Amino acid sequence: MNAANDLMQDHIHSLWSEIIESIKQEYLSEDQSYPWILGFSGGKDSTVVAHAVFDALLSLAPSRRTREVHVVSNDTLVESPLVAAHLHRTQAALRNAAKSWCLPVTIATTRPPIEKTFWTLLIGKGYPSPNQTMRWCTDRLKIQPTSQYILDRVCAKGAAIIVLGVRRDESETRRINVNRRKNLHQSNLSPHSELPGAFVYRPIVEMTTDDVWDAIATFPPPWGGSHTGLIQLYRDAEGGECPVVLSKAEAPGCGTASSRFGCWTCTVVEKDRSLQGFVDSGNREYKPLIDFRDWLKEIRNNPNYRSVERRNGKIQFDALGKHIPGPFTIQARRMILEKLLETQEAYGGDPLISNDEIDLIKAIWAQDLSKKSQ
Ligand code: SF4
Repeated sequence: MNAANDLMQDHIHSLWSEIIESIKQEYLSEDQSYPWILGFSGGKDSTVVAHAVFDALLSLAPSRRTREVHVVSNDTLVESPLVAAHLHRTQAALRNAAKSWCLPVTIATTRPPIEKTFWTLLIGKGYPSPNQTMRWCTDRLKIQPTSQYILDRVCAKGAAIIVLGVRRDESETRRINVNRRKNLHQSNLSPHSELPGAFVYRPIVEMTTDDVWDAIATFPPPWGGSHTGLIQLYRDAEGGECPVVLSKAEAPGCGTASSRFGCWTCTVVEKDRSLQGFVDSGNREYKPLIDFRDWLKEIRNNPNYRSVERRNGKIQFDALGKHIPGPFTIQARRMILEKLLETQEAYGGDPLISNDEIDLIKAIWAQDLSKKSQ
């Protein structure tokens, strides 16, 4: 047992040193005016990347730390509450550490604009609860806000390098993507498929899942404290995560059975195993959220709650001549808002919807009603 443990320790120490060394070389290479944008979800892979990047920066003389590093997280505004709380705590620790050590690190959060939030689109405009065939949320809640942040940096600096915690052994789809890019581009950087001027760097691409957990268990985070909160979160949620998503091709984990760290409202998954895991491990306050999500999934295909026409006033049929229902009716949207406010009351935590969203939703209803009466 001890011999096996010693072997594991030797392996993780030498692997970690190699990773830090290669991050240092990459940081110092190319044009240093191109910022690094580290996609940080608060999950295990992006935490290990942030940890390694901090270690690499700290091992460099302050005069050589000239490249900006942006640690960017995405808040869909319907994040699973325990995951969001963990992310906020880690972001605060990263911010404090970066400030204390004068590291060129900025901690940022991207969010969808109010007119594209989950509630504005679902309750305001009546978009049906997302499912596998109509997954309108990933692009609007995750991809667009973070892509815009990256493109703004590309505009300001000429190029940007996205640092991701993608690993080869993560999932079949990602493995194929990583392999394809590796074959095409022998450098450590590969052009992002959808963001011109952005390149992707994957410093932990060769780490296995066991290596990631061994690193988390072996090395305390350079920003202080420990990784215990992260380990507990995975234990309670029974694994899985919804990673930082920058293109549809890179979003296989979002809204699938393995995406247990996604939005609490996610109706794309059959069962919300993350929240259920938290409830099973004693966090009973999340039960009203699970009930609401299950209800939202259930009412989706009830024809009584769906308009005959689409929002553009047209009636649509599929290739077999079957009618495709339109958005939720105004009555159904009112019912969903009422039920959401009841859920908020029963939950008792941070508000589930903002007052600004409610005001905008009511303005959209008024516009839709006036269009109908014309
Ligand atoms: S977790 Fe679910 S609701 Fe959230 S963006 Fe992904 S698919 Fe959509």
